[in-house]
Amino acid sequence: MKRLEERIRKDGVVKTSQVLKVDSFLNHQMDVTFFYEMGAEFKRLFADRPINKILTIEASGIGIAIMAGLHFDVPVVFAKKAQTSNMDEDVYATQIHSFTHDRMNRVVVSKQYLHADDHVLIIDDFLANGCALEGLIDLVKQANGTVEGIGIAVEKGFQKGGDRLRKQGYRLASLAIVESMDETSGEIVFRDQK
Ligand code: 5GP
Repeated sequence: MKRLEERIRKDGVVKTSQVLKVDSFLNHQMDVTFFYEMGAEFKRLFADRPINKILTIEASGIGIAIMAGLHFDVPVVFAKKAQTSNMDEDVYATQIHSFTHDRMNRVVVSKQYLHADDHVLIIDDFLANGCALEGLIDLVKQANGTVEGIGIAVEKGFQKGGDRLRKQGYRLASLAIVESMDETSGEIVFRDQK
């Protein structure tokens, strides 16, 4: 999605060689009109799939997932980061390593909101090593649901999650794929997806 690449070039900040900040429109302040356009793009990319639910993880996936949900006209469920192991029988739970905080999070979804007849599109803001997505896939599998696809706003192609998930056969579409980024110059190179 060219408009996302342009926006990242204009407003993105290369914090380190591994971390891109897009707080001004995606991760802190949210440009809702732009989110709406990203939601429409996910709908276009996965229109051929029988999606009846969208799954994301709190917090930064929620805004984009909601806009995708609006275009698909399906409910959006977000996996919650939960401290306690109360009511384990009522939830599907998994462990996800947090890229941004470098710690393990216990993440849960109520069994009420994920079912065997769900055809799920997983949405997240960033894809790095793929831990968040693998956790979300695990939750869908525990419910015996079907992962129809994975939609990401920004994939960092130089980290390994995207390649690994594609090799596993998942239909993964990223609106922008950063091939490389330079901390010193701030230069960002995108993968040509045409
Ligand atoms: P992964 O689990 O694929 O290693 O990392 C993905 C998660 O970490 C995303 O949910 C996102 O919140 C966060 N993340 C990973 N890399 C970045 C980054 O460069 N910038 C921002 N803002 N978040 C990131």
